[in-house]
Amino acid sequence: MPAKTVPPCPFAPMRPSYLSRDDEFFMKLAYNQALKAWASGEVPVGAVVEYGGEIVAAAHNMVESARDPTAHAEMLAITQTAMKLGGWRLNGATIYVTKEPCPMCAGACVMSRLTRAVYAVEDPSMGFLGGAMKFHDLSTLNHSLQVSSGVLREDCLKMLKTFFALKRNMDE
Ligand SMILES: [Zn+2]
Repeated sequence: MPAKTVPPCPFAPMRPSYLSRDDEFFMKLAYNQALKAWASGEVPVGAVVEYGGEIVAAAHNMVESARDPTAHAEMLAITQTAMKLGGWRLNGATIYVTKEPCPMCAGACVMSRLTRAVYAVEDPSMGFLGGAMKFHDLSTLNHSLQVSSGVLREDCLKMLKTFFALKRNMDE
C-alpha cells in the first residue's frame, strides 16, 4: 500500500569495511537501513545499535506500514536491543541514527540508559539532542547520555532532501 506513494530510490547501499568499526562504519549501516525504509514506502530514517563492537539491532522507520506513530527507527532498535541483551538497561550500547532523535526517541535513549547516541543530520525543529533542545543536558536527569552529531551528515542529508523533493514533485 504505501510503496506506491513514494518515488523510486536513486541511492545504492553503502559497503562499509568491516575492518574499522568506527562511528562512520556504524552510520553507514544505519544509512542502509534508511534505504530500506524508503523502499518500503517510509520516510527514510534508519538506526543501528552497537554493543561490544557488534551490531545488536538494526531498524528503520515503520510508521506507515505499522500504522503506529511510535514506530520510529530508534524506538524499534531500542526494543530489539533490550530483547537481545535480555534486559532494559542498555548501558554500554550506542545508537546510530541518520536523523536527530525526536522528543519521543530522545526520551527513549535516556530511559533505556544507552551510553551514547550518534546522529547524522540535525533537526532544528524537532531534534531533542541538540537541534531544537538539549534534552540530555537537563540537570535533573539521573542518566547521562553522550551525544555526537554530524557523522556521515552529507550523505544522510542528501537522502532526506532528495526524498522530500521527489515526493513533492510526485504529489504535485
Ligand atoms: Zn523519533
